[in-house]
Amino acid sequence: MTKSLTAPILRKAPKVLLHDHLDGGVRPATVIDLAAASGYDALPSTDDEELSRWFYEAANSGSLERYLETFAHTVGVMQTREALARVAAECAEDLAADGVVYAEIRYAPELHVDGGLSLPEVVEAVNEGFREGERRAAAAGTPIRVGALLTAMRHAARSMEIAELAVRYRDEGVAGFDIAGAEAGHPPTRHLDAFEYLQRENAHFTIHAGEGFGLPSIWQAIQWCGADRLGHGVRIIDDITVGPGGEADLGRLAAYVRDKRIPLEMAPTSNVMTGAAKSIEDHPIGLLRKLYFRVTVNTDNRLMSGTSMTQEFVKLAEAFDYDLRDFQWFTVNAMKSAFIPFDERLALINDVIKPGYAALATDR
Ligand SMILES: [Zn+2]
Repeated sequence: MTKSLTAPILRKAPKVLLHDHLDGGVRPATVIDLAAASGYDALPSTDDEELSRWFYEAANSGSLERYLETFAHTVGVMQTREALARVAAECAEDLAADGVVYAEIRYAPELHVDGGLSLPEVVEAVNEGFREGERRAAAAGTPIRVGALLTAMRHAARSMEIAELAVRYRDEGVAGFDIAGAEAGHPPTRHLDAFEYLQRENAHFTIHAGEGFGLPSIWQAIQWCGADRLGHGVRIIDDITVGPGGEADLGRLAAYVRDKRIPLEMAPTSNVMTGAAKSIEDHPIGLLRKLYFRVTVNTDNRLMSGTSMTQEFVKLAEAFDYDLRDFQWFTVNAMKSAFIPFDERLALINDVIKPGYAALATDR
């Protein structure tokens, strides 16, 4: 086995990120600043290294309460226009510095109205932040394009309102819609009116499915709700049987997902932390990549998982001995699956991603 690809090389590789939560990627120092500015006094530490360790440990503790507490703090300090714009701008800057060239970042507008903002004001503040972040990234020589995905919470009853918001802002920085939150007991079919509305409006959406919960959740997301993509979709592996000779037998649902090229937004580190996969080495991404499912690599929550796109690639390179061709394949998969128009996706693939990988391959 050759030495696996390292962070300095993979950081230079163009990357595309489709599944990343805005409130899961705030800089620890910014959480502290924003808490001080808003009088939020519930943070477990005001030292940024200590706080960053706390986030990782709480998220990794196996306790759902502690995991949710991490988001209570980030969301708690993201309740003003300035705070939202700052977090969004820094998100775009951090991703660009990590070599991400295109990203779709999701957040739930309904979680950011405690300070008196209306839902449209939340969307406008985040959009303004992304545009500022794009300007700073371009000035730093690392151009990035960022779109927003508006998330509705699956246990709440505002999905229709959020879907309407996604359609209202679709030409102004919002690429699509998402639904998130605990899967068990909250089937996506509860939000059918929102999904049907989006389909009638020719709008795009993804659904968190098949992370904590199995095949029925994936089946509902695709066959009842009409999801364009699956958030995680890890459990699709339950519909695949591998024989003693290594031959794979796909059940009807797995075959449908592969045949229809339905993108799977997988986030290896996060999937291990939530127990959806045992380890990176055991992550279904290894088999799914071999079987040519439309797999994409994502970060999910950079702060809580202590990760980045480069870090996810490094771990996959170590676990599966992937080379640059594999990472270009994951990246092109993600770009093909983005919610922006086809010609714009193609331009990023041909003008940015392929030349970026070609230059890296000749550099080495
Ligand atoms: Zn997620």
